Amino acid sequence: MKSQEYSVRQSTPRVLEKFGNTNVYNLDSKTILNKATGYIGSYDFTLNPYRGCQYGCSYCYAAAFSPNSQMRQDWGNWVIVKQNAVELIEKELKKWYKRNPNKPPTIYMSSVTDPYQPLESQIQLTRGLLSVMIPYQPILVIQTRSPIIVRDIDLLKQFKRLRVNMSIPTGSESVRKDFEPQSPSIQARLNAIGKLRHNIPDNQDHQIRFSITITPLLPIFPEDETPFICKLEVIDRIVIQAFHSASQKSVLAATTRKEAVNLKEKYKWWYDNESEKYNNFLENLKALLCDVEVFEGKAGFGYD
Ligand code: SF4
Repeated sequence: MKSQEYSVRQSTPRVLEKFGNTNVYNLDSKTILNKATGYIGSYDFTLNPYRGCQYGCSYCYAAAFSPNSQMRQDWGNWVIVKQNAVELIEKELKKWYKRNPNKPPTIYMSSVTDPYQPLESQIQLTRGLLSVMIPYQPILVIQTRSPIIVRDIDLLKQFKRLRVNMSIPTGSESVRKDFEPQSPSIQARLNAIGKLRHNIPDNQDHQIRFSITITPLLPIFPEDETPFICKLEVIDRIVIQAFHSASQKSVLAATTRKEAVNLKEKYKWWYDNESEKYNNFLENLKALLCDVEVFEGKAGFGYD
């Protein structure tokens, strides 16, 4: 079956265009702010401008939410654009404030896609959503691994309460290339978070926070560990979490896809002693970064 022939339940998608090797589909969504549950259940809503993700990380749990098994296997090579997202969010924010006049909603963008994946540079859907959100001032957390976010500094600085989580799960570039070959380099992500920090003022009126999420911690070569940790001084918070165990049965475990399971074999020197390696890394983080708060897992994912 060619990837253009995927079937998606809501309606038959058409290939909007090719973006590199990615098939891009264009669909109307029923809602754009969805009730947050599970791991990020402390938020009011998740906000996913896209479905699917061009970065196609080998360990991504979001692949399990693909519309069908063919698309799940082809994770990383298709994206569904929620073309009516901007129109929807305005309506949904108005509705929220009608019911909760003095309570800004907490929004996590995004839980099953990267809002700044490469095609965002062309489509600018995330940018459109930010523009509409500014007058409503939600408490917003943006989760990404993309330097494209720096394009939106002009909008990001207008939020009163914003946290940017930059995902960097390893300090070893060769490991990054194995586990996430389509994603931006570690240095590009570090440069991006540094640029955001430098250009977005944090003051009483605009409480802007920056985290690095090391979730899950991937292998890191001993010689890369300390230099990597020292580069994380620019942020306020680190969130760290171990890789899910290969023995976990849940379909949502991070090892769902065979690519990640195969890589765990390649990095046996790490995974055979994973909890020891994880604990050593965590101790090293705490020792080297005294001014950065370190959270493990779920506890670090909120704005506060
Ligand atoms: S960037 Fe995030 S959503 Fe995209 S494939 Fe990687 S882990 Fe999944």
